[in-house]
This record gives sequence, structure tokens and C-alpha cells, in this order.
Amino acid sequence: MKDKKPRTRLVHGGTKRSQWNEVSEAIFLTQGFVYDSAEQAEQRFIKSGPDEYIYARYGNPTVAMFEERIAMLEGAEDAFATASGMAAVNGALMSMLKAGDHLVSARALFGSCLYIVEDILPRFGVEVTLVDGADLDQWRAAVRPDTKAVFFESMSNPTLELVDVQAVSEIAHAQGALVVVDNVFSTPVFSDAIAQGADVIIYSSTKHIDGQGRTLGGVILGTRDHIRKVVEPYMKHTGGSMSPFTAWVQVKGLETLDLRVRAQAQSAQAIAEALEGHAKLKKVIYPGLPSHKQAALAQRQLGSGGTMLAIELAGGKEAAFAFLNALDVIVISNNLGDAKSIVTHPATTTHQRLSAEQRETLGITDGLVRLSVGIEDTDDLIQDILDALEAV
Ligand SMILES: *Cc1c(COP(=O)(O)O)cnc(C)c1O
Repeated sequence: MKDKKPRTRLVHGGTKRSQWNEVSEAIFLTQGFVYDSAEQAEQRFIKSGPDEYIYARYGNPTVAMFEERIAMLEGAEDAFATASGMAAVNGALMSMLKAGDHLVSARALFGSCLYIVEDILPRFGVEVTLVDGADLDQWRAAVRPDTKAVFFESMSNPTLELVDVQAVSEIAHAQGALVVVDNVFSTPVFSDAIAQGADVIIYSSTKHIDGQGRTLGGVILGTRDHIRKVVEPYMKHTGGSMSPFTAWVQVKGLETLDLRVRAQAQSAQAIAEALEGHAKLKKVIYPGLPSHKQAALAQRQLGSGGTMLAIELAGGKEAAFAFLNALDVIVISNNLGDAKSIVTHPATTTHQRLSAEQRETLGITDGLVRLSVGIEDTDDLIQDILDALEAV
């Protein structure tokens, strides 16, 4: 499959068939595996080969299908699937860092990611410097010879600010630091992060990869050496592995990922264009709009504006709530990447934990609404938004 195009890999990559030769990938809902003999059990605990399993926390055939398929899409040598996106973020960072190490991280992070870099890592003696991810001078000033890794979301939540993966990788690599990217908003469909210099890539597969809002999952991608020698020992012994059931749902999610994400991005672009300049909006933030301050970077890095947009209502929280409550097709929730379009009011939900001052720094105003664009008809979505704005 390695010489095939992404869509083909997403349908066929990593498939392992049982003795029945089933067409659709099987779910191996088993935590254990029977050995033919005591000698075989002994041998497997000494060294297990690629298709030799011991215990589902260490690996499972359905999980392996998921790992191989997503690794093929991302162009990574290997992958380790995790119980959630946060298990992936925690595992990627904790497995490589130790007391005395220095980490440089972008400040604009998903709340739980910020908790790990601001609260947990310093508790174990890791020094953390936070920077404005879009400002390359801040990265240059912060990365030092003892910096072990840099960490950032390639497109930030919810303000859709991009970090230049290639430029930050050059800065980090010049000091010998590894580049760890939370790539959820960029999606594996548009990402070319490995070619752009990233060493470790993380997805919450809860989002676009499941794509239908059913399961929690995550994945850490990187070189075979890094995944097997650094990530796997930490993950398999600390319990954050993906369940076979989740892997089965998400293997099927990968089959349609490219179709869904491209349709979502196309709709997002059309919605952003339809809304820009609307009288009730202060601004429309979408990396695919020429007015986005990093429009050129979005084209170079992703070739797309992505599936997410943010709008700022002129009337603050009151207007934002009125808008959310007036929507008919689009639902109020906090997942993203779903087949269903979803709106979120970050200031009172996902980013409520932050102080008013922190929210201000990140541009999370009371009028800001995040929209994850689904796969519904684009015209219906635009009409739903225009009608709801009318009601504000
Ligand atoms: C959702 C999300 C996570 C966490 O993923 P879970 O699957 O919910 O644990 C991490 N980073 C980003 C950018 C996310 O959007």
C-alpha cells in the first residue's frame, strides 16, 4: 500500500485478515492471546514479533490495524494508539521528559494540554517556557541548548492561529530539541508535518478520525525508534492504550476520513466567505480567507483553511448566546470534527477555567463562537447561521 495514494491507503492500509478472510476489518475484542505451549509463552515475553500479541494493553490486532493505517496516511514510520487525545499528549511528553529538562511550549493550547505543561510537568522538575506560537522571535529567544522539546498546536483552539511548523522545527533542531505537534485542527488529511520537520505528531482521534462523535481515542506518531523505545514502554506500562473496540470504530472512520474532511473544509470556506462582513459580526476568523493574517502560511502548510472557523459577534456574550440558541441544524456541544456541525462558546465552556486576563491574551472574547463544520449540505448550514444571526 505504501506506493498508493492517501485515499486508497485509508481504505486498505494495515488490514489484517483472520482465517475467515472477512472483507470488513474484524474487531478482536480480546485482552489476551492463547500460547501453543509454555515455551512459546516464555519466548514471546522475551521478544514478541510484529504479529505476536501478549496483552491488549501492549497491543492488539485491531489496534495494530488502526496504527498502521494512520501511520501510512501521516507518512510516519510508526504509531502508538492511545485511550484519548489527552493520553496521547501526556504520553508523548512524559515519555520523553525528565526532571531538569527544559520544554518550550506555545501558550495558546487546549485547556487540558495547558494543564499538563503548566501544572503537571513543573511538578516533576521540568522547566517550561511559554511563548506566543506565531512569533518566531519568541521561539528563537526561548529555545536553549538544554531544551529537550518544543510543543505546540499547529492550529490553535479556538482562535485558529497557526504555528509555522517548518520554521519552528528549524529553530528547535538547531539546538537539538525534538518537535512535538498537537495536530488536531490541521487534520491528518491536510498535514504534511513530518516533511515540514515535526518529530512527534499527536492526534485526538476523537475528532475528525472517529468523525461521528462515538469514541474517545488518540495517537502518537513518529520514527519507529522513538515510538517503540520511548513512547511504547511508557504507554503500555501506564495504561493509556486504545481499546480494540475504539480501534475498530476508528479504523472504519479512517476509511471515509479524506472524503469527510475535504467536504467539511469546502463548506467551511464557503461559510466563511458568506459571513465575512456581516453587520452582526465583528470578525470572521478562518485561515482560508485572504483576510486571515496567516492566510499565506495556511496555504503553504496545509493547502486548506481547515474545517473550523470562529466568528465574533458584535454584541458580546448576550449576542453569542442568542445566536447559539437560535440555531436549528447546528447543535451546541464541544466536540469537533464531527459529521454534525457543532457550535461552542469557548469563554463559558472549554476555556472557562482560564482567567479573564488569560482569555483576553488569547483573543477569547465573550462574543467569540467556534464552529466545527460538519458534512451537512453547505447551503442549509449557511441559511441556519444567517437565520440565527437575524434573531440576534
Ligand atoms: C480534543 C483535543 C485534545 C484532547 O483530546 P481528547 O480525545 O478529548 O482527550 C487535545 N488537543 C486538541 C487540540 C484537541 O482539540
